Amino acid sequence: MSTKRRVPWLLTPGPLTTSAATKEAMGRDWGSRDADFIAMNRRVRDRLVAIAGGEGSHVAVPVQGSGTFAVEAVLGTLVPDGVKALVLINGAYGRRMARILEIMGRAYVTLETPEDTPPAAAEVDAALAADPALTHVAVVHCETTSGILNPIAEIAEVVARRRRRLIIDAMSTFGALPLDAREVPFDAAVASANKCLEGAPGMGFAIVGKEALATSRGNAHSLSLDLFDQWTAMEGNGQWRFTPPTHVVAALDAALDQLDAEGGVAARGARYAANCRVLTEGMRGLGFHTLLPDALQAPTIVTFLTPADAAFRFEEFYAALAGRGYLIYPGKLTKADSFRIGCMGALGEPEMRGVVAAVAEVVGEMGVTRTAPG
Ligand SMILES: *Cc1c(COP(=O)(O)O)cnc(C)c1O
Repeated sequence: MSTKRRVPWLLTPGPLTTSAATKEAMGRDWGSRDADFIAMNRRVRDRLVAIAGGEGSHVAVPVQGSGTFAVEAVLGTLVPDGVKALVLINGAYGRRMARILEIMGRAYVTLETPEDTPPAAAEVDAALAADPALTHVAVVHCETTSGILNPIAEIAEVVARRRRRLIIDAMSTFGALPLDAREVPFDAAVASANKCLEGAPGMGFAIVGKEALATSRGNAHSLSLDLFDQWTAMEGNGQWRFTPPTHVVAALDAALDQLDAEGGVAARGARYAANCRVLTEGMRGLGFHTLLPDALQAPTIVTFLTPADAAFRFEEFYAALAGRGYLIYPGKLTKADSFRIGCMGALGEPEMRGVVAAVAEVVGEMGVTRTAPG
């Protein structure tokens, strides 16, 4: 039974549902120069590095703003004028990295595959072999546009073998899917507080190789998004250069406690995988089709193809689900009509069963009989 909930569950690509403990952690003010805040900030940064297996080799540098701010800071700081990046695109977030480089006037080429097709490591290998001027490769771990999982380990292996540098947008995987710098070599992995880490929105961060960061002085196109400057200032006095999102840092610290208590990345990934399974099986049981085969699906957000039935109108479907306490998301595919239902955030199987039950009620009310795509 789907019961109405006053604050809706966020079954979206972000921001996501947070736990009561995470929200409670935001209930006090912090002085940005206070020793307690500085210690908390240090602790959060160390924990983020540990999640990525980067102790000794990498540092965590936080950036105010949404995840895109951190992606822009990394590209602007690590891909200087005079080098050339290869951007792998199979959705909106890969395209966004190319757009960022374009606006900054940095040199790049793209390797694009359809939204339901991961980039092949062999093609990356061939592209790098063909153009010695390429110094960096930028790739999205899970393209949240579709929910597709890109083969990050294989791509990292090729990039390392060709002695190029890898930048990973790990926004919608960090904390739920393993990414270990000792096994998957990268210069930077970028994520934010409010996806799989289940903190509050308002800050992004990058896990950056020390050597890559230390040689990036003066590269950045921007003052506020200069990751080198943010890092050296923070190492110097423990403080953020500009007003820190204090409540968001506190929420992330609490959220990281909960990640530990849950059993770390493996346990969180297992919960999301169970969420994804309940959602996908439930929706298939109602006749819906997923865009992706299960083998390509990340356990974070699922794209469903829009039913062929003319009685199905997304706006009406969305509003009726919202009225039952479930916020879903429109599709973002360029080719097929679709919608998305997320399974990350502070959610479990009851919420997944709940949204499936709500979908069943709503399609019944709308008079949709054919839920398969055209
Ligand atoms: C959410 C997300 C981002 C960042 O989006 P913001 O709206 O700026 O937080 C970047 N890349 C991927 C893959 C994402 O899922």
